[in-house]
Amino acid sequence: MSLAPTLSVVVPCYNEQEVLPEFHARLVPVMDALGWPWEVVYVNDGSRDTTFAVMSDLAARDARVALVNLSRNFGKEIALTAGLDHARATHGVVVIDADLQDPPEVIPALVAAAQEGFDIAYAQRSIRHGENWLKRTTASMFYRVMQRLGGKVQLPRDTGDFRYMSRRSLDALLTMREQHRFMKGLFAWVGFPSVAVPYERAPRAAGETKWNYWKLWNLSLEGITSFTVAPLKIATYLGLATAFFAGLYLLQLVVRTLFFGNPTAGYPSLMAVVLFLGGVQLMTLGIIGEYLGRIFNETKGRPLYLVERHLPSTADREVSRR
Ligand code: UDP
Ligand code: MG
Repeated sequence: MSLAPTLSVVVPCYNEQEVLPEFHARLVPVMDALGWPWEVVYVNDGSRDTTFAVMSDLAARDARVALVNLSRNFGKEIALTAGLDHARATHGVVVIDADLQDPPEVIPALVAAAQEGFDIAYAQRSIRHGENWLKRTTASMFYRVMQRLGGKVQLPRDTGDFRYMSRRSLDALLTMREQHRFMKGLFAWVGFPSVAVPYERAPRAAGETKWNYWKLWNLSLEGITSFTVAPLKIATYLGLATAFFAGLYLLQLVVRTLFFGNPTAGYPSLMAVVLFLGGVQLMTLGIIGEYLGRIFNETKGRPLYLVERHLPSTADREVSRR
């Protein structure tokens, strides 16, 4: 039997063979300096390189390493959930990316902030290195839209998944088993006393980002549709507004024809109106479809992920065999 660690660090990894050893080497001294029993849960999200071999190697040399090997690539959000499910920490978990964009050296600041009586300490990027203008502006636009649509649940700006969460807020988070997991939204929904810890986001240490603009666009759609039903309302109001102006136009046509006759052939205006309404209808159907597709996926009630292999950490073997 092994004692449960106080802190768990959860790291989703997809094709991270180059950075993982360096990540682990930087994580260990930071965590050791905290002076509590800890573990790190590496989740292999169906990597197509040797990431799992690298992880197994780390686990063989360090008893504080836990491994979760998913049966295929499920995407970061689900890989993260798998890791959180397998975190055994009694006090809290730290969520961090493997690519060293979230510096492990910030972890003590997160833990210290949380110890002042907060359940969640999230790292807030003050400067984004190695991210171009387009990524920065689109990210900022996204946060602005979410802030408008969010209502009671507000997403903190410039915040990724890098954070400390207390056991009780983690347990609350894990009760949410939806397939469409927009983690930032779920973190925000949970609530609990939270505090921001500013840090400088580094550029990726090695390997390459798995994101592209199409993925980011999809993540934003995911964020909006799993976070709020505001687009459905917007569709309704758009329909109402269109119908209202169409009504006015009709009235004007009737009046003009009755009192002045109607010498103009209506073809161009007719085309314009038909195409406009067609576009609005298709868009509205699309919005409904986005939600319908999500309902469809949720009703299947499938498990979030499948684990190919799980190797728990063994915190009682405190000293790493090296
Ligand atoms: N990741 C994952 N599954 C995926 C894509 C990414 O587990 O399908 C992990 C990846 O290994 C990294 C983290 O999620 O630890 C963030 O990924 P990335 O650095 O590509 O995203 P970015 O920092 O550009 O947002
Ligand atoms: Mg990254």
